[in-house]
Parts: sequence; structure tokens; C-alpha cells
Amino acid sequence: MKLLTADIGGLLASLNAQVFERGWLSSNNILFNDGLGKFTVVDTGAAVHAAQSLKLVELALAPRSGELTRIVNTHLHSDHCGGNAALQGRWQCDVLVPIASEQDVRSWSDDELSYSYTGQDCERFALTGAMEAGSRVDLGGRAWYAIAAPGHDHKALMFFNPETATLIAGDALWEQRLAVIFPELAMESGFDATAETLSVIERLAPKLVIPGHGSPFTDVMGAIEASRQRLAKFIQAPEAHAKYAARSLLMFHLLQSRQQEESGLRQHLLNTQVFIDIAGKLQISTSSLADQIIDRLMADGLLKRQGTLIVCR
Ligand SMILES: [Zn+2]
Repeated sequence: MKLLTADIGGLLASLNAQVFERGWLSSNNILFNDGLGKFTVVDTGAAVHAAQSLKLVELALAPRSGELTRIVNTHLHSDHCGGNAALQGRWQCDVLVPIASEQDVRSWSDDELSYSYTGQDCERFALTGAMEAGSRVDLGGRAWYAIAAPGHDHKALMFFNPETATLIAGDALWEQRLAVIFPELAMESGFDATAETLSVIERLAPKLVIPGHGSPFTDVMGAIEASRQRLAKFIQAPEAHAKYAARSLLMFHLLQSRQQEESGLRQHLLNTQVFIDIAGKLQISTSSLADQIIDRLMADGLLKRQGTLIVCR
């Protein structure tokens, strides 16, 4: 049975957690009250929303004279750690990242961090520690454990609190949709790992999932089943996954400014490696890929033309 939202609110309160639901462009931010005026935030949203993330955390901390002492990242996609630099600049807090990304951050390898690959921005931040699968991370006065979550991002972690059976899933499980499986776009494999991560979640049997995007939810088996069905379709037709990825990445790019000159948008696609890889996978030119996805997003009513501009509806 699906719990009412009020019950989810109660569960979050018992975890000493507040979820700032940020929508699709920025990941959710989960703020934990660790006691004694100290707070931790899990994931910080996109760079384009960094000022807003800072404001949200400031507003939440002000009445309690709190201080942000830690940032914990599920993974380092730009929509999950884009606010790290702004928050760290304000509070000089620690930043903990998955150990598989530790070197990438230390050397700020734009390629390994995938920002140049996807044509996304993320301001550089300094890490102070790394977590691996099995690491204990205390959040809101409870013990949470890091769990490997390969698939969407092979370096990602999730966090599980066994006492309350709550899972912070990052982008490994959403209630409605399945996140893009990035390794598949770069000619690596990712579908099997995604299936295995869904099975890991099933075995954990969480009662509550706090996803990276969308509201916290309790119908976990329903979400796993929906993700498996979506994954089965992608395995059967990998080109459908590649096109879904192209549309998602284009929308992610456009939503930051809400509109762009069509020529500039096309240039962005032609110059960004992930679109070149996707076109290669589909065995079409990058410029035909641009035509196809812009047409499809227009037909779906997500974009429209206004003179020489492409505009988000
Ligand atoms: Zn992600």
C-alpha cells in the first residue's frame, strides 16, 4: 500500500532529513541535521542552480544557527555536484565522493568527470575524503552504508539505513523513469550492471526511497518493476536508448537557458562528444541526429521555434 505524503514527511522527520525536491535539471538535495548545529547535505544540484541551492541550505540552517559541515555526493554528474563549490565556499565544509571518482576530482580531469564529454559545466571543488562500498556514513544521527550502484554511472554509490530501511538511490532508481545508462553511449556495457543494481535494491527491500530526482516514494517494487520493463526495451533496442539519451541531454542543455539560437544549438550538438558517439552508435551523421531529436522534441511539444530561436515550452 502506498503511504500518504504526510507519512513520508513523518519518516523523513524521524531521519532528521529534509528533502529539497529540485525537479529534473538539478538533483534533489537531502539535508541532514547531525546534531550540535552540524548539518550534512547529500547532493547539491546543478551549477546553473548553485545560488538557489546555497539559498535553500542557508534558509534551512538559519533558524537553528546551523553550519553545513559536510557534502556527500552519490555520484559526480554535474546535476548532483554543481552546487558543491558554492556551498564549500560559504561553509568550508568537507566533501566526500565515491572512491572511484577520487582521482578524477583531485586532478579535476574534465574528461574522466565527463563534463567536457557531455558539454556540461561544474565548478571545481576540493574533496576531503572518499567512500567505498561498505563505508559507514553517519547522517542525521543514524548509520548509513554506501552501496555500489553501477549502471547509470559505474562509479556511483547509494546509501542505505538498515534501521529504517531507507535508501538514498541517486540516479539508480527513480519512481517513474529510468535514467540514461551512460556507459552504453561510450561503447562500454551498462545494461547488465543496471539490472544487477536493481536486484541489489530489491534484496535490500527498502521501505522508502529518496531518489535523485522526483519525490521520495514507498512503492519500491513498483518502481523496480517499471525500471526493469524499461531496461528490457532498451536491451532489445539499444538504439531506442541512444535516442532517449540524446533527447534527455539536449533538453538538459536547453533547460539551463530555456532558449537558444538554432544555429548555436546545432553547433553545440556537433561539437559535443556524447552526441558524436550517439550518432556513431545509430550510424547516422551528427547533423542528422540533431535534425531527428529536434524534430522529435518539437513533435512531443517540449520545444518550439520562435524566429531563429529554439525555445523550451
Ligand atoms: Zn546521474
